[in-house]
Amino acid sequence: MSYYDLPCDQCGHPNDINWDICHNKDCAETITAPFIIRLASIAAEQTALNDNYRLAKTQLGSKGKGNALMIFEDMIDRQASVTMTAPVDFVFDWFLRKKDAFLPYRKQVELKIREHATYVNAKKRSYVDSAIFADREMIFGAMTLDETGLTSYGPVIMILNTKFVRRNTGLLIENSFNFHDRIVEEHKWTVNDPLPAGNLCVWNERQKLAVIKCKEQIVSNDDSSRFSEYILKSTGDRKTDEFMEAYIDAEFYPAMVEKLKFPADLITDFETNPDLLEYKLQFEELGRKVIVESYAK
Ligand SMILES: [Zn+2]
Repeated sequence: MSYYDLPCDQCGHPNDINWDICHNKDCAETITAPFIIRLASIAAEQTALNDNYRLAKTQLGSKGKGNALMIFEDMIDRQASVTMTAPVDFVFDWFLRKKDAFLPYRKQVELKIREHATYVNAKKRSYVDSAIFADREMIFGAMTLDETGLTSYGPVIMILNTKFVRRNTGLLIENSFNFHDRIVEEHKWTVNDPLPAGNLCVWNERQKLAVIKCKEQIVSNDDSSRFSEYILKSTGDRKTDEFMEAYIDAEFYPAMVEKLKFPADLITDFETNPDLLEYKLQFEELGRKVIVESYAK
């Protein structure tokens, strides 16, 4: 098998991760695993993730932080979710009027639903996305332990259904822009090289990647109340937000959102604006939990 091959579930034939159909003509089975799951499942990624995780655990154990590590991993296991953030108008419009699949950036531009971003922003986004996902396009979210989100993308936090996340989501150790800049600096990475392995995982292995990411912080402070901010720190500024980036590789509908969180200063709007209040009631009729809470925007 070559670097980017995975064995077919049905016949074992090695297929490149970018193929959606098994290339063994006698099998020709459709490959159903989302691309991001395949990318995180190649042998080199698996080996590096497991090696780095074991090393981080040993280091923490030898520093007497085994107990803090146990609490950390248990929190990741029980509390982790994926959130996406958006402006209020977008959320209402999508949930109550459009109700169709959420489209990634390039499809929105193709369909003229949104304008092109500026040349500089579009160039960097496309460049970094291609470096990781080749010709695929992901929907972006972030992992959280306390249902917070990156409010630099909007004040409303959408908390995604966990079963949907488990089947369709991969995680990167950090924001893909920072990741790209780091691998260029540290590894002299070019597009001809495989991505440095061990920075990507499927949802079910999230605690391994989280331990690798946060091992220094767990060492310096085993106060579990701070673990949430080690995993996601929203600063309101995209350049300084710190988080594990989540890639949703599936059609994404409002039904896959489990809860919506609005910042507390919108309560006034709910009370004084009959339209907003009506929207809120409609959300609740859809069986969604609407939470109004104080959080930094
Ligand atoms: Zn096959």
